[in-house]
Amino acid sequence: MPAPKDILDTLHSLVDRDICIMHICGTHEAAIARSGIRSVLPERLKIVMGPGCPVCITPQGEIDAALDLARKDCVIATYGDLLRVPGTKGSLESSGGDVRVVQGVHKAAEIARREPEKEVVFISVGFETTAPTVAATILTKPPENFSILSCHRLVPPAMEWLLAQGEAQLHGFMLPGHVCTVMGYHEYERFPVPQVVAGFEPDDILLGLVMIAQQIREGAARIDNAYPRAVCREGNEKAQNLMYDVFEPADVEWRGFPVIPQSGLRLKPEFEQYDAQKKFGIEVRHVEKHSACICDKVLRGIARPSDCKLFGKACTPRNPVGPCMVSHEGACKIWHLYEARR
Ligand code: SF4
Repeated sequence: MPAPKDILDTLHSLVDRDICIMHICGTHEAAIARSGIRSVLPERLKIVMGPGCPVCITPQGEIDAALDLARKDCVIATYGDLLRVPGTKGSLESSGGDVRVVQGVHKAAEIARREPEKEVVFISVGFETTAPTVAATILTKPPENFSILSCHRLVPPAMEWLLAQGEAQLHGFMLPGHVCTVMGYHEYERFPVPQVVAGFEPDDILLGLVMIAQQIREGAARIDNAYPRAVCREGNEKAQNLMYDVFEPADVEWRGFPVIPQSGLRLKPEFEQYDAQKKFGIEVRHVEKHSACICDKVLRGIARPSDCKLFGKACTPRNPVGPCMVSHEGACKIWHLYEARR
């Protein structure tokens, strides 16, 4: 790989118009903010974050469903990031229920084995990166007192929605490196825009930006791979098969988005004994947004965290108002940590 300064010089020489690139990955946002990449970019090149934080895009209705499960005396097992995400009436942290932080689904299944007298529900959030692991656990036939609330999301349908809306005026996408490690990038070939798969080191990101700027200069719309050490076109087929053995696509709402067709994952009928919604008769309801939080716009790439009048004042990592200030992959928390200090 060329030296970072050379990559940056090439990038500056390529950008001769206003360009807006969206990435869809909280880890990319953290890497960009931590390394200060935005401060050295050509003035006319803007990078915005899309719906790449799985906790942030989990709608309030799903948080409310998790709270309903906690009220039914279920042990709620989930990732730490989800605990403080506000639902309509409080968060899992403030629910008073038996809520336990686990490192992954296998730990939740272990609790169910260890405590057979309790119902254990894993709140299963994440993109195509985490769904195969959850599927693998379901295929091990965990005990009857184990179930999941599936809050999984698939990235390509959200990209399709964003492109159809056109509200963010995007010129290209930096594809999520982790998701592409599992899924490859062949699913994205249907999108007629410049795209690049990029890794997470500053050089990877800069190289990705060069590749995408090059495409824009050429008037091309293809997928370049700046992360070949981890990603190939087909991805990890074994993981994909596991995921689709257990889950099937479903129409679901995302926070900040309406219902996007086939953008979620629900358990297939043969695994419905592990479906907490069916097991406990829980409904995921649409919740209208009422607060001044603009997470919805931040997640669609049409506002920056600092555009929010609550940013750094009423809303801080200590007292988060919206999910983007809770999760370590949330744009507001990342900006509060890094960008606001520059
Ligand atoms: Fe929502 Fe807080 Fe971000 Fe504003 S700063 S958009 S209130 S999470």
